[in-house]
Amino acid sequence: MRAVRERFGDVPLQVDANTAYSLADAVHLAELDAFGLLLIEQPLPEDQVLAHAELAKVVRTPICLDESITSEQAAADAIQLGACKIINIKPGRVGGYLEARRIHDLCSKHEVPVWMGGMLETGIGRAGNVAVAAMPNFKLPGDTSASDRYYHRDITEPFVLVDGRLNVPQGPGLGVNVDQPYLEEITTTVQLVRRREGRPGRVAD
Ligand SMILES: [Mg+2]
Repeated sequence: MRAVRERFGDVPLQVDANTAYSLADAVHLAELDAFGLLLIEQPLPEDQVLAHAELAKVVRTPICLDESITSEQAAADAIQLGACKIINIKPGRVGGYLEARRIHDLCSKHEVPVWMGGMLETGIGRAGNVAVAAMPNFKLPGDTSASDRYYHRDITEPFVLVDGRLNVPQGPGLGVNVDQPYLEEITTTVQLVRRREGRPGRVAD
């Protein structure tokens, strides 16, 4: 971080530990405070929410939780415990867009800013992520990338970065069109998921 700070100067910087540390590293992690980071993301394992609250007493850099936040309830608990000041939302991690929105609204109420992560989505998922990321409490830069970061050719019209930003699709639904012929061309297996009559949300085999 020292080298990056020296090279790039006063730009917004954040780090992601991906659960690599333990609470015993608290004093070591506090050395990051010198570099004025926006946040440190998920320093401890995902099931150690309480330990993140302890860590927050030693480290001044705001702690952001990613892997630990699997639902609105998990977010509510983490906020109340003082385990994080920022939350990363990935719709794929929390169970979908409705839960992502609930977490957004909860965080907004508690003045906890959020930002959008991503999980290698195609244009379909990317469209939803970009729409969610346009909500008002997404106050930190998201890391939703352009389609061509992961795909030579996306299965929708490609998402293209313009000046470091992605436009939110404006059409109905997700606002993007699936390139059906191309999708068929690259499909290797098909699995059909049916919703059982009268039991919403349950998946038949
Ligand atoms: Mg992360």
